[in-house]
Amino acid sequence: RPTLPKPLKTRIFVVANQKGGVGKTTTAVNMAAALAGSGARVLVIDLDPQGNASTALGIEHSEGAPGIYDVVVDRQPLGKFVHGVPRFPTLWAVPATIDLSGAELELASVVARESRLKRALDTYLREREAAGERFDYVMIDCPPSLGLLTMNALVAGQEVLVPIQCEYYALEGVETLFKIVELVRELNQDLTVSTVLLTMYDARTRLSAQVAENARENLGSAVLRTSIPRSVRISEAPSFGQTAMTWDPSSSGALSYLEAARELAHRDPAAPPPSSPPQDGR
Ligand code: ADP
Ligand code: MG
Repeated sequence: RPTLPKPLKTRIFVVANQKGGVGKTTTAVNMAAALAGSGARVLVIDLDPQGNASTALGIEHSEGAPGIYDVVVDRQPLGKFVHGVPRFPTLWAVPATIDLSGAELELASVVARESRLKRALDTYLREREAAGERFDYVMIDCPPSLGLLTMNALVAGQEVLVPIQCEYYALEGVETLFKIVELVRELNQDLTVSTVLLTMYDARTRLSAQVAENARENLGSAVLRTSIPRSVRISEAPSFGQTAMTWDPSSSGALSYLEAARELAHRDPAAPPPSSPPQDGR
């Protein structure tokens, strides 16, 4: 298994794009599994009432089951809801249930409603670190909206990871997301859009190439060099409660997520830049 550099401190990613079906959940769980597969300690937080990330990680999330709802609405400690992910010794997840769909309304009138997740996550991460079990990565999977749940994720996180589907209107809405991130930076100075990942890339179509070119022109170095191809193995894995990493590790989908995870691990914002090679003639 490949080894990847460990981050100097826990990197908290918010996987967000207010459009549905662009590959947020697929990216959150497969990146998490790829990083965990290299030995990193990774926590996935499912923040979408649909619970798709919980499904893909094989974690119980039927209505009424304990999960992230209890953390953001009832302010219970996050650690109570952390499950080990089957087949991965260093991957954990907090599930979401459909109960979370009422959370935005239930939180509407409470004080500091957008900081609920941050308080719970910071406390949990500090506890684990004090116990000598620091997490390397956290991946928060957001619902397809810019409501209070996504806001909680943006306040809690450091790096926004934006999946962009290589389809018509791919960049539509991305500007709005970037504006929201700018606003949230008033509450959370750490937040940047560090990473953009092109998903469902189809090398046979002119459209995919155009979307990729357009994204690289407009979003610059945040765009990972690796794009994720359309792959049947990726889309069928969740129905077996798995990510592509275990469902078919040699598939193009699994390999591309591994490569994307490698890129991500090598771009640690807390790490000093690599020392420049000696100049010619010295
Ligand atoms: P989101 O979380 O943004 O709504 P999903 O990750 O659930 O998006 O992806 C939407 C649908 O597309 C799902 O059915 C998923 O299995 C499928 N999908 C995502 N990425 C790929 C891919 N690279 N190849 C094929 N299908 C994909
Ligand atoms: Mg999703």
